[in-house]
Amino acid sequence: MSKEKGSKLEDKLSIKHESSWLAVDAKGEKAIHKFSEDYKRFLSKCKTERETVAFLVAEAKKKGYKDISQYKKLKPGDKVIQVNKKKNMALAVVGKKDLETGFRIVASHIDSPRIDLKQKPLYEDLDVELALFKTHYYGGIKKYQWVNIPLAIHGVVVRADGKAVDVVIGEDEKDPVFVISDLLPHLSHKAQGDRKLFEGIKGEELTVLAGHIPLKAEKDAKKKIKLHVLKLLSDKYGFTEEDLISAELTLVPAMMPRDVGLDRSMVGGYGHDDRICGYTSFRAILEMNNPEYTSIAYFFDKEEIGSVGNTSAQSSFLELSVGALMELLKPKFRYSQLKTALSNGLVLSADVDAGMHPVFKDVHETHNAARIGRGIVLCKYGGARGKSSANDASAEYMGRIRSLFNKNKIPWQYAELGKVDEGGGGTVAKFLAMHNMEIVDCGPAVLSMHSPFEIASKIDIYDSYRAYTAFFKEKNI
Ligand code: MN
Ligand code: MN
Repeated sequence: MSKEKGSKLEDKLSIKHESSWLAVDAKGEKAIHKFSEDYKRFLSKCKTERETVAFLVAEAKKKGYKDISQYKKLKPGDKVIQVNKKKNMALAVVGKKDLETGFRIVASHIDSPRIDLKQKPLYEDLDVELALFKTHYYGGIKKYQWVNIPLAIHGVVVRADGKAVDVVIGEDEKDPVFVISDLLPHLSHKAQGDRKLFEGIKGEELTVLAGHIPLKAEKDAKKKIKLHVLKLLSDKYGFTEEDLISAELTLVPAMMPRDVGLDRSMVGGYGHDDRICGYTSFRAILEMNNPEYTSIAYFFDKEEIGSVGNTSAQSSFLELSVGALMELLKPKFRYSQLKTALSNGLVLSADVDAGMHPVFKDVHETHNAARIGRGIVLCKYGGARGKSSANDASAEYMGRIRSLFNKNKIPWQYAELGKVDEGGGGTVAKFLAMHNMEIVDCGPAVLSMHSPFEIASKIDIYDSYRAYTAFFKEKNI
């Protein structure tokens, strides 16, 4: 990394690759660590999309944001909250210019891969005298990573009386946790050793320990252990087994984010993908006052299962939310104006990219791979096998964003997800692009993506926040 004096011409014509940490002084480092402390607090409180929405709404209200229902009319500088079905949302600051002339969006997703309970989760295995939960995983996980780690249950159960009851078990030190028990190595050679890695644990084998003590008092009960678990759920929450059918209960790592490395340069935690962009874009929009262009931070759900469903980036919420702003801004609102506004939108699709792995470098094409600690990653296209299903940002828009970052001294790097034909991935970008907006993928690189404990460099977290701030603030992009 040392910066030897090279050829002047080389300096002028070549891309420079170096750690962003090199350009930071002691004061800068302090700000970076402080920002990461705030981020870790957020990450430890927000492990589901619902919790993230509740947190962001509460924090935004403290900073002068109001729900759109509280406005009869909007004017420049107004700060608006729009929530969609408790699972995705938008925060907007009204700009001085007409919405049709364009607006700025940073779009992230706030769902993360996890293990959901099935709707009929609880059963008793008489052979082993255990009550267990059956699960159905959510998003692209390597299933073997989720065994033998403490898990917490988060979610909501809608009871027969219609009341929705929030549940969090496993986060308080006094709470019990849950675990998917893996087979001991002594007996694994045939049962698991001959399987392919991804099948080490199969979907139906992600079975969670739920309880063990039979309810002795119920002498005639056939399944006393299961009944005991049901009774505990009934005593505490008033649930019956049928109530769990109208529920969203999910298992997430019961671990708190921690500093990683002797130099505390990284943050390890559950849900960097993509709450790292959710949080940093949230911090960026909080600082916006009287912007030139209306600025909106979107926080979508369901990205990890393909952006499908009514709280995803494909839902009509995007159109409805921008339309609602326009109706309150323009006395004679016409639908075509909404379409024009959407067409003139500039968007950063804020999502994480893959940092080059220190051991498995072969999956990356090192010349076009991201490194953690080298700044926010611009990614022109994703997709797989010949850019299939990719959003492909235009050269012109790449040029505008590149100049924006250079002008504002935001460290950035260019990367693709991996080698051509190695695999691939997508973000919300292609769904927003359908509204004719300009959009490019732009977020920090992480290691161990989709694992229970993902890794990000603190400087990239901070630089993401700086990049999104610059994008909202800059008048001429
Ligand atoms: Mn993502
Ligand atoms: Mn993901």
